[in-house]
Amino acid sequence: AEGSAGERGIAYYQPARDSYSADRLTLVSELRQALANDGLALFMQPKQCLKTNRIVGLEALIRWPGRAQPIAADETINLAEQTGLIRPLTRWVLEQVLEMRSQLLDRGWPLSISVNVSPNNLREPDFPIFVQRLMDRYPNHQGAIIFEVTETSMMQDPANSLKALNSLNASGIPVSIDDFGSGYSSLSYIKQLPASEIKIDRSLVTELATEAEDRVIVQTTIEMCHSLGYRVVAEGVEDHGTADLLREMGCDMIQGYLLTPPLPFGELLEWLNQSNQPQDHRRLG
Ligand code: C2E
Ligand code: MG
Ligand code: MG
Ligand code: MG
Repeated sequence: AEGSAGERGIAYYQPARDSYSADRLTLVSELRQALANDGLALFMQPKQCLKTNRIVGLEALIRWPGRAQPIAADETINLAEQTGLIRPLTRWVLEQVLEMRSQLLDRGWPLSISVNVSPNNLREPDFPIFVQRLMDRYPNHQGAIIFEVTETSMMQDPANSLKALNSLNASGIPVSIDDFGSGYSSLSYIKQLPASEIKIDRSLVTELATEAEDRVIVQTTIEMCHSLGYRVVAEGVEDHGTADLLREMGCDMIQGYLLTPPLPFGELLEWLNQSNQPQDHRRLG
């Protein structure tokens, strides 16, 4: 299988491209075992407010360590979606995230945590009930666990996705539209989603400093999203120049390697402590 250059320059194996290979079957059973035996990990990437320069939230991203041949997160997710393992995977992620946020609260960090949710999860009839019960067990986290869904994934099954997201939103889950601007989607559909945040896709952000067209698109997107009542996050910000441009354009928040790549939880705690953030703020992003 071909490799793709990932974070830290690693060449990743892409198992989902080889649908019927023996390698892939082995991989599926390894993923099943990893899920059952705490073999997966969650990394956290901070989200910063451009007005206050404070860290307001985190995004949880799946990692599969301990493999000789690393596998990119989106490949792990593809594999899980193709095999039904996305159901236990997302539920494991959510339980981990609530535990981690409890630890963050204990240390004085009331940050929101965003979780990427697959369209498959939104099709599970008992998913909203699972989430509701979990949130009931963790009353301190009301409103602070955000679900990220991509605009493209919503378009696979618009009516059902809308129904599930409305139900989740009614039980206190803010919704964020991920990878906005990266694919085909209908604005008339997006505006029906109970979303409070839009994340502008990295592909529109990467060349902001050099591409005048990208600046027009991003500026217009920010203004439109603000008029519709969404907060705007820019993904994939890697340099100060891009962050300054986004601030001038009125973008609310940024994420990206400029701040830090996603970190293991322990390293994230150290990173937060060294970031000179006031810990007493109660603003969630
Ligand atoms: P995403 O949700 O859009 O996450 C952002 C991706 O961009 C992450 O890749 C992150 O590591 C990467 N990134 C962040 N800042 C920068 C930057 O400045 N430059 C560059 N080049 N990349 C940056 P990652 O962790 O490999 O995840 C890829 C995708 O896999 C995610 O895209 C998300 O769609 C999916 N994913 C990851 N974890 C989960 C999960 O727990 N559940 C589900 N359903 N999907 C997940
Ligand atoms: Mg995301
Ligand atoms: Mg994204
Ligand atoms: Mg993505």
